[in-house]
Amino acid sequence: MTTSIRFLGVAGYEIVANDKRILIDPFLSKSPFAPIQPAELETPDVILVTHAAYDHLGDTPEIAKLTGAPIVCGGDVKAFLEEHGIPENQIHPTVWGIVVEVNGVTIRPVESHHWSMTKLKSGQYITGTPMGFIIETEPGVRIYHCGDTAIFSDMKLIKELYKPTIGLMGCSQAQVLLGRANFAGKVLTGEMSPREAALASEFLGLEIAVASHYLDLEPTGKEYKEVQEFLSFVKEYDTTGKREALSMEVGEVLVIDGTSYRKENTI
Ligand SMILES: [Zn+2]
Repeated sequence: MTTSIRFLGVAGYEIVANDKRILIDPFLSKSPFAPIQPAELETPDVILVTHAAYDHLGDTPEIAKLTGAPIVCGGDVKAFLEEHGIPENQIHPTVWGIVVEVNGVTIRPVESHHWSMTKLKSGQYITGTPMGFIIETEPGVRIYHCGDTAIFSDMKLIKELYKPTIGLMGCSQAQVLLGRANFAGKVLTGEMSPREAALASEFLGLEIAVASHYLDLEPTGKEYKEVQEFLSFVKEYDTTGKREALSMEVGEVLVIDGTSYRKENTI
């Protein structure tokens, strides 16, 4: 049995294992680096949305309409999707602690120290609870997607209880997107700095720490620098001596095959 994890850019992933296809935070049509467009995706068994930010919610409404795939998300995302014509019975709202099984995929939402906010057509803003997710794709392969989160020490509790083996760890910001968000000032960091994301990987007890939340690994850019810092800090904080640290180009696939792994380039 293998698990493949394709990086779609920012925090978007397509995970295929055990005859199941799981799509997380698909941000494609507005991404200058998208390796695939919504209409080209194979029908997922489930779509997971960590929170309502445009670079995470992304193309979920269109993909849900095209494929009929069920969506697991928070309450504000549910309201947004219903307003965009997704039938209520296609949407499975949940929150930290409430594990759900949808189309044979078991999804554990976990705490995320972030926000989730979006605007309805009326102009009204609504907020909800942001989430991370843990999915066991096969025995011994437990993938933690952090959503967007600041570091928090209860990641140690997540380690104790759920033992994630692979972490998709936000450690940067897609520079090309920063101008699109309406922040009060200049955004200087991602939700976790490279050092914080590496320490978080130690808190979580990961076997493989995968850099996440970026688009462009052009070697002179900030994203590349932060990802490289993350990779070296992971080694610095690793008390197991066994933790692997890696990054993927957008479009690359990480294949977990038993106790080994490899990257495949599908661009
Ligand atoms: Zn984000």
